[in-house]
Amino acid sequence: MLPVIALVGRPNVGKSTLFNYLTRSREALVADYPGLTRDRQYGRVKRGERDCLIVDTGGITNEQEGIDVFAKKQVEIALQEADVVFFMVDARDGLNATDEAIADMLRKLGKPVVLVVNKVDGIDSNTVTNDFYSLALGEPIGIAATHGRNVHDLLDRIDELL
Ligand code: GDP
Ligand code: MG
Repeated sequence: MLPVIALVGRPNVGKSTLFNYLTRSREALVADYPGLTRDRQYGRVKRGERDCLIVDTGGITNEQEGIDVFAKKQVEIALQEADVVFFMVDARDGLNATDEAIADMLRKLGKPVVLVVNKVDGIDSNTVTNDFYSLALGEPIGIAATHGRNVHDLLDRIDELL
């Protein structure tokens, strides 16, 4: 069984962009994998020593009705399956109340979390990522999923957490 990374965060922070970047090759998309549930999108991430599976999830919102309930359920299942969680926030939006709520939930979950600050292209990465230290999930890492900037360093973080 390969280590599983769950990609979570509010809608529009760039989760699917990172997922697509990491699973660009056709064979990376995993339709079915022993021990994993369907309904979420899995991909295989090529890494030096050991590949990983990454799970894209719908955004977490505070909505209680309809499709969001399904999406939220998928996030919960993905988190249960995960060995490592990538919690993505948006550098351009800054810290937001939903981020804080998700951070609380993740701290209670007790799994290793990497705090991923996306969309640092064209802005001062250090200044922006510092704003997110207050989420108390360790050192934030700034990336730009559209360009793949710093994504390699992000993947290196996994080894420290497994
Ligand atoms: P998701 O809802 O979290 O899956 O977010 P998406 O991957 O669908 O991205 C939402 C929007 O953010 C899209 O318009 C992306 O093109 C944009 N986006 C994603 N990553 C980046 C990034 O690194 N930099 C910038 N500037 N925009 C990004
Ligand atoms: Mg998405």
